[in-house]
Amino acid sequence: MADAQDSARTILVAGGGIAGLSAAVEAAEAGFQVILVEREPYLGGRVARMNKYFPKLCPPQCGLEINFRRIRNNPLIQVMTMAEVEKIEGESGDFTVGIRVNPRYVNEKCTGCGKCSEAAQTSIPNFFDYGMSTVKAAYLPHEFAYPMRYVIAPQVIGTPEAQAIEAACEYGAVETDMAQKSVEVKAGAVIWAAGWTPYDISAIAYYGAGKYRNVVSNVVMERLASVNGPFKGIISRPSDGKAVKKIAFVQCAGSRDENHLAYCSSVCCLASLKQATYLLDQQADAEVSIFYIDIRALGRQEAFFEKVRQDERVRLVKGKPGEITEDPATGMVTVQVEDQQTGKTLREQFDLVVLAAGMAPATSQQKIPASGVVYDDFGFVVSKGQIPGIIGVGCDRRPADVSSTVQDATAAVLKAIQACRR
Ligand SMILES: Cc1cc2nc3c(=O)[nH]c(=O)nc-3n(C[C@H](O)[C@H](O)[C@H](O)COP(=O)(O)OP(=O)(O)OC[C@H]3O[C@@H](n4cnc5c(N)ncnc54)[C@H](O)[C@@H]3O)c2cc1C
Ligand code: SF4
Repeated sequence: MADAQDSARTILVAGGGIAGLSAAVEAAEAGFQVILVEREPYLGGRVARMNKYFPKLCPPQCGLEINFRRIRNNPLIQVMTMAEVEKIEGESGDFTVGIRVNPRYVNEKCTGCGKCSEAAQTSIPNFFDYGMSTVKAAYLPHEFAYPMRYVIAPQVIGTPEAQAIEAACEYGAVETDMAQKSVEVKAGAVIWAAGWTPYDISAIAYYGAGKYRNVVSNVVMERLASVNGPFKGIISRPSDGKAVKKIAFVQCAGSRDENHLAYCSSVCCLASLKQATYLLDQQADAEVSIFYIDIRALGRQEAFFEKVRQDERVRLVKGKPGEITEDPATGMVTVQVEDQQTGKTLREQFDLVVLAAGMAPATSQQKIPASGVVYDDFGFVVSKGQIPGIIGVGCDRRPADVSSTVQDATAAVLKAIQACRR
């Protein structure tokens, strides 16, 4: 594979979230070969698991589908899913990149008919719903998945169930003997778009996440509100499925805290304001409380903040909760907080508490497999003094919303093209 390629005309993009997708289509539309490497079985990253986008509150599938169409129509883009970059060697203009491709056990003949799923017996936790629901061991990652192709869970491989799944496919698409493989490709530049991961809120012991079922993170809230989520879009308590009426959002859960993430994650205030509208739109008698240090809604987002704030069902309380507890009998969650504007300590019960978890760069957990890449203290890829030809983009560079991420991706492509021409 390596020999057949012209590295000076090839850009490798690692990560198929909105940053990687944008970079891939921009590079290909500028005439470059693109190899887009995504770890999961589908493209779209975190955004695909969201209910709506702020500030317009439109579903993310529209924007993603436009990118998928651009990919489908561009023969210069090669998409590799369930794949990860293992090593990057060489130099700007001439890198050799090793990629590990994990078996999907389903080939490109898959029509998405779902017969394999009907033959499966075993259920596994649904990754897409953060484990709040299950899927069969032969599953489609989600109904808008690109590529629209089933996956067989490795748990059943080698069992009679796997044979039944294979036999159920009329198109010869299921290959239970598919093996992991390693490939090498050449590229003139590498755009690293591995994105972000929510801060592990269970590390904030006094908030009880992981211990209490009705204390959830903001990414889980996206699934609770999604029509293709575990409660079909009716925001409900994970403990008992009861519809939520009274909700609290706790800002800076992990962010702006020297013991956790010392920086502001920049989008979680807007995410909570957006998620408040999810409940307000569903329940006329909803009550929303937002506990905050200060609300970060910069630039054009100020108008969105004002709009949500003016809803009389929304209460903003300046104060960082010191403790959260859940009553095991009722599932009600109590938040204790000192209101900094009145000096009073509040103790109040809610159906559900959403922790606005901060965003940590994926590169804080898994470094780019090349020697000499420079990171800041938090694991973000820095631009200055970086290895030429390896370009960090999107939330690997800083916490950012979708529109900033897309702009970043376009700028990264220009740098990648310059690197290819070295
Ligand atoms: C609760 C919440 C709500 C939000 N809501 C909004 C909103 O309404 N509007 C808005 O503009 N922004 C919103 N954001 C921000 C938005 O999620 C980000 O801007 C966006 O996800 C950034 O995209 P990305 O491609 O950089 O990262 P990701 O979405 O994280 O994508 C990274 C991709 O890389 C893949 N990957 C990771 N590691 C590897 C590897 N080693 N090899 C190959 N692939 C890899 C991942 O599987 C993933 O597909 C929200 C953020 C939060 C926390
Ligand atoms: S965006 Fe808001 S919630 Fe997130 S870290 Fe910054 S101030 Fe805290």
